[in-house]
Amino acid sequence: MNKDMPLICFDCNLPLSDFDKFLHKKYRTNLGYILCQSCTDKRERKLIKKMAEDFVNELDFYDYTKTIEKIKKEEKDKD
Ligand SMILES: [Zn+2]
Repeated sequence: MNKDMPLICFDCNLPLSDFDKFLHKKYRTNLGYILCQSCTDKRERKLIKKMAEDFVNELDFYDYTKTIEKIKKEEKDKD
């Protein structure tokens, strides 16, 4: 990346604050673009929401296996 190029947020096109630049230098990503703090937060919130949804789905899955086990056990108890 050209050093003289102003660092602009990929999402909102606002120039990055010194803090954002600092973070960008410190935590270099392989994304190929830079995000300002608020856009990073927005994306993280989306990601967290997605992760939370996945987690809930996983819980459903575990409940499902538990239910199956319970049914199997009940069937065994009948024998
Ligand atoms: Zn932004």
